[in-house]
Amino acid sequence: MQTAIADSIRRTPQGTEADAILRTCVHCGMCNATCPTYQLLGDELDGPRGRIYLIKDMLEGGEISRRTQTHLDRCLTCRNCETTCPSGVRYGALLDIGRAMIEQRVKRPFFERLRRGLLCAVIPYRARFTLLLRTGQFLRPLLPPSLRRSVPLPQTAAPWPNTAHARRMLVLGGCVQPALAPNINAAAARVLDKLGIRLIAAEGAGCCGAASHHTSEVSAALDFARRNIDAWWPHIEAGCEAIAMTASGCGVHVKDYGHLLKDDLAYAARAKRVSALTKDMGEILASENLSRFKAGAKRGAKVAFQSPCSLQHGQKLNGVVEKILRELGYTLTAVPEAHLCCGSAGTYSVLQRGLSRQLLSNKLGALQSGNPDVIATANIGCLVHLQGGTTVPVRHWLEILDAASGGGG
Ligand code: SF4
Ligand code: SF4
Repeated sequence: MQTAIADSIRRTPQGTEADAILRTCVHCGMCNATCPTYQLLGDELDGPRGRIYLIKDMLEGGEISRRTQTHLDRCLTCRNCETTCPSGVRYGALLDIGRAMIEQRVKRPFFERLRRGLLCAVIPYRARFTLLLRTGQFLRPLLPPSLRRSVPLPQTAAPWPNTAHARRMLVLGGCVQPALAPNINAAAARVLDKLGIRLIAAEGAGCCGAASHHTSEVSAALDFARRNIDAWWPHIEAGCEAIAMTASGCGVHVKDYGHLLKDDLAYAARAKRVSALTKDMGEILASENLSRFKAGAKRGAKVAFQSPCSLQHGQKLNGVVEKILRELGYTLTAVPEAHLCCGSAGTYSVLQRGLSRQLLSNKLGALQSGNPDVIATANIGCLVHLQGGTTVPVRHWLEILDAASGGGG
């Protein structure tokens, strides 16, 4: 695609990057075929190709309006279009640039600013989110059924092993996951402990920054990244071999630290190293001997695996967890249109509720079509979102593995 980026923009790092990305697009439109919002709304501007044109127009000095912002807001950032695109267009990176630019130029209505501001002031902060969640759980019996379903029941975590091992890995503590499902990281620690690996949650590390990043709070997102790098660095220097991710949504973001901080001289090199060390638990376990988990696995138990977009499109790890579960003896049910987003997508389920509910309904229909005993996933946001719409138990796949090896999951 030919471009004529405005001079003032082209000279910035973001302008240069956007120009390079735009030039790889041949506007064939193949990406529209797998875009969930295009499928639901049928509007070219709610598909990737249309959004690319909107961003191009903006960068070339065209009109920047609330209408453009609305079409960009409706994007799930699921990156399904990147998987489909034959030209390797880095749509997600282009969208980040477009969204950041429009955020500076178009003022949102008051209540929208308030809602986004509240999300950014609560979600990334573990203590604030925990307080809000516990209040919701306390009031749960009094809530109307539709709201009650979206407040998960309290969960306890089985013990975190404390055995010293020569092999050590870090784990991201995260922001909402410790309050919503503290057993997930504990399950990861127990599974790795059985493989002779100690899992360490570094003090001072917290939110990965994805929630702020996706609401265009760029500066706050970078501060979260720097804080995690500072907390992890001494452990990396002491020989931790990987940074394990139990939430694929965080994993895809931490893997991008190297790119996000490339212009920060104080952090660029360490950010690159952190990204290189970051691995989803699926990647880690795929290269370990898991035979000891076979004996306790409920052979034949029917599992419907929901592969989060951040796992299959963002990290390109489609099929990795499925293979592990199959090899352990679980029966994976067929999930039609498994490439489509469930509608959770970070803060999307709050900010775009209508579209999110439609996607949830479609996804649950697909997941339940094979009558599974359990739905498994790899991301806390998807887990809570899916569980809010079904009575079939939804678990993190690591908890299934942990339970198979006699853990508390
Ligand atoms: S992003 Fe890729 S698939 Fe979509 S129009 Fe451009 S080249 Fe075609
Ligand atoms: S990221 Fe997802 S919702 Fe956004 S344009 Fe691409 S496929 Fe569509």
